[in-house]
Amino acid sequence: MNKTPFLTKEKAEEIAAKYGTPYHVYDEDGIRKNAKAVKEAFSWNKGFKEYFAVKATPNPFILKLFLEQGFGCDCSSMAELKMAYAAGFSGEDIMFSSNDTPAEEYEYAAKIGAIINFDDITMLPYYLENIGEFPETVSCRYNPGGTFSISNDIMDNPGDSKYGMTGEQMKEAFRILKSHGVRHFGIHAFLASNTVTDDYYPTLAGQLFELAAELKKECGTDISFINLSGGVGIPYEPGVEPNHIDRIGEGVKQEYEKILVPAGMGDAKIYSEMGRFMAGPYGALVTRAIHEKHIYKEYIGVDACAANLMRPAIYGAYHHITVLGKEGEPEDHIYDVTGSLCENNDKFAIDRHLPRIDMGDLLYIHDTGAHGFAMGYNYNGRLWSPEVMLHKDGTFSLIRRAQTLADYFATFDCFEEFRNMDKV
Ligand SMILES: *Cc1c(COP(=O)(O)O)cnc(C)c1O
Repeated sequence: MNKTPFLTKEKAEEIAAKYGTPYHVYDEDGIRKNAKAVKEAFSWNKGFKEYFAVKATPNPFILKLFLEQGFGCDCSSMAELKMAYAAGFSGEDIMFSSNDTPAEEYEYAAKIGAIINFDDITMLPYYLENIGEFPETVSCRYNPGGTFSISNDIMDNPGDSKYGMTGEQMKEAFRILKSHGVRHFGIHAFLASNTVTDDYYPTLAGQLFELAAELKKECGTDISFINLSGGVGIPYEPGVEPNHIDRIGEGVKQEYEKILVPAGMGDAKIYSEMGRFMAGPYGALVTRAIHEKHIYKEYIGVDACAANLMRPAIYGAYHHITVLGKEGEPEDHIYDVTGSLCENNDKFAIDRHLPRIDMGDLLYIHDTGAHGFAMGYNYNGRLWSPEVMLHKDGTFSLIRRAQTLADYFATFDCFEEFRNMDKV
């Protein structure tokens, strides 16, 4: 699969003229079409709901777009809960899948009626002590330990992950919750990240469905939903076959019919909490080449840095780059594309084959729609870029303004001389 930008050089320049560079831009039509495909793929399950993982792209415009699709959202912190609530989500349309959770976040989640997904059995007495009785519907997060593999391919190591409860703890938790009057139960697990295979969800679903049937049998609890969480990936590199959401939905359906229906659980709802799959491909970071440097290697310095997109720096993640307006040209130059941070890992690309880059060229960094802007930070006093939404008709709007130096200095307001930094 070739990777094609969702906007032209002309459009990118038009946005730059208005909001400057760098900026994150999102493709509204792409997000909508994909959301429809997800709904369609799981339409066989009456109660299906995707809870968009807010942490992937915490922006009210994007949350409202998913609300319009009938989706819920998945939160993990106070800020995410409040953003979801303010964007119009409430009650059981909010999933609270947090870990190491402070009491005040449980309290707020309970106040707005969110479904609480307990990460650990010790959270139950903690909740009782700090908040009070449990809501009617409660979910628990499962960690099977060991390794998670699909056809002998190890995908991840749940045994090394901090999340979830053991199988025995799940049973114990369900018994405790039931004795406190909880009536509807959910189970949740997140076992592998960015899986680019149609088998991940069906394999996970098989494991969770077996567990659900066992929990129902042993604890006599009603399992009203099974939450497959996130982890459905996207092809960051060219040439990788993307996931087929229709086949994923079909694979989950087969497991459902094989395991849940015979167990008399044919009314269980399927939930997902996808972030990356819902938004990743529909965002890009657009940045301008401002310097070139010729030492032991060839460097292109751009005006974005790891503060705008951290994945390459922290995971060595690949993000494809298109030099806008040079799509057809031979990729006969080898560059490191760098930001300005005083960290040598601030590189968007290393030894990347690209067309010749001239100063002023716009670089389109692909697949930043999830876990892109969201992971922004302020190291070296670098500021967050604006976020822009490109609409279907070619118009665009600002959905988050750029951070300013005044924003950056705002938390120094304990110092008189830092209160009016725009005058310095
Ligand atoms: C991060 C996260 C997600 C979303 O994961 P993606 O890989 O972006 O789909 C969903 N649920 C929980 C609990 C998470 O922590």
